[in-house]
Amino acid sequence: MVFSWVSKGLRTGVLTTRYPAVHEQLSEGFRGKPVLDVNRCLSEQGCTACVQVCLPAALELKQGVQGRGAVHKPVEGAMQLTLDYARCIMCGLCVAACPAGALQMTTDYELAARQREDLQIVNVFEASTEDGGARFISPPREGEG
Ligand code: SF4
Ligand code: SF4
Repeated sequence: MVFSWVSKGLRTGVLTTRYPAVHEQLSEGFRGKPVLDVNRCLSEQGCTACVQVCLPAALELKQGVQGRGAVHKPVEGAMQLTLDYARCIMCGLCVAACPAGALQMTTDYELAARQREDLQIVNVFEASTEDGGARFISPPREGEG
């Protein structure tokens, strides 16, 4: 195996791929990171299906807060669903478990970030008094927290 790799490199002059200048062709069924459609999510109605099946605890549901770190405050009546790409193993179990089709797998595998926190997607929902549903408040805005 190593010999064929070296042999190919000597023959072609290419020892590594050209990524990121040239992206590799992904195999069929490749799983990248999951993404959440906040408009479909039922977390405010008590759904925890994705959180329960996620083995590395990449999904967390708790009372909603606004802001990050030391600068955050609870939002009364709000729920917060966090998707942590630093923990996610891209297994797809949450997508299969979601009763609302709110989670989808993508082919995006580029997760480099400057800070650990940048890999956490925080979605805050609060109950709507008008229709009994949920209103999406926000992920943290740029520069917040
Ligand atoms: S893809 Fe797997 S590891 Fe990632 S959030 Fe979904 S269940 Fe968790
Ligand atoms: S399983 Fe789907 S609907 Fe339920 S909390 Fe997770 S993303 Fe939202």
